[in-house]
Amino acid sequence: MSLNGKNALVTGGSRGIGRAVCIRLGAMGAHVYINYVSNPDAAEETRQAIVAAGGTADVVAFNVADAAQAEDAIKQLIKDAGSLDILVNNAGITRDGLMARMKESDWDAVLDTNLKGAFICAKAASRVMMKKRWGRIVNISSVVGFSGNAGQSNYAAAKAGMQGLTKSMAREFASRNITVNAVAPGYIVTDMTSILNEEIQEKIKAEIPLANLGSPEDVAGAVAYLVGDDGSYITGQTIHVNGGMYM
Ligand code: NDP
Repeated sequence: MSLNGKNALVTGGSRGIGRAVCIRLGAMGAHVYINYVSNPDAAEETRQAIVAAGGTADVVAFNVADAAQAEDAIKQLIKDAGSLDILVNNAGITRDGLMARMKESDWDAVLDTNLKGAFICAKAASRVMMKKRWGRIVNISSVVGFSGNAGQSNYAAAKAGMQGLTKSMAREFASRNITVNAVAPGYIVTDMTSILNEEIQEKIKAEIPLANLGSPEDVAGAVAYLVGDDGSYITGQTIHVNGGMYM
């Protein structure tokens, strides 16, 4: 239980990868704040799963892309909880489309949620981490930020941007004992990828050396390593959880 006494905020913790991260951090002893934007029932279900396993958690609603709303919510959380020790920037969306047809609003929505949201939350959380001289920030990036992907120029740009953000924050915060790392998943079975039809999933599997899509728990394991005792000398790095599809 290496995270006893620590407070952890997971953005987009209601479903998919974020849900698995919440459950894992709860099992490690952290008090988990489960963020969501539109799905209170899913967030509450995640909270109940943590409690059923003997952990503690609260749900907290805010839109990571809305700077004022996210900052206020994180300030309030820190006031209520007394501290915030771990932040996992996981909230993310896709608005796919080929460049020629991509609407500016789809570009903005993805950049605002996936990249600006991480900046806003990390900025708000880092103040108290700097004061306490301890913090762990993990950004959930993507294989697509490294490889690019036709039809995902907005998403790939946001995730590649997240890599630069991760390294810059790692350098800025290192002197205060705050580590900042990224986890870059490949194709993971969640609502986000359930829209891919069987044929596309088979094509994707054919490009994965381990020949299967990953699970949210595979990603949660990498996050747990980075925020737990064993990850304390690691900063500015990316753990790729992708079955070998990008090396
Ligand atoms: P899901 O679509 O399953 O879940 C998305 C989560 O993000 C939900 O909890 C949702 O909340 C939350 N969310 C979306 N927009 C906002 C917002 N504006 N503010 C706060 N919360 C928000 O996604 P995944 O679990 O698949 O993905 C999680 C992360 O992992 C994303 O950053 C994604 O880009 C990344 N990733 C996923 C991969 C995959 O194959 N699945 C591969 C590589 C990276 P609500 O329930 O309220 O809607």
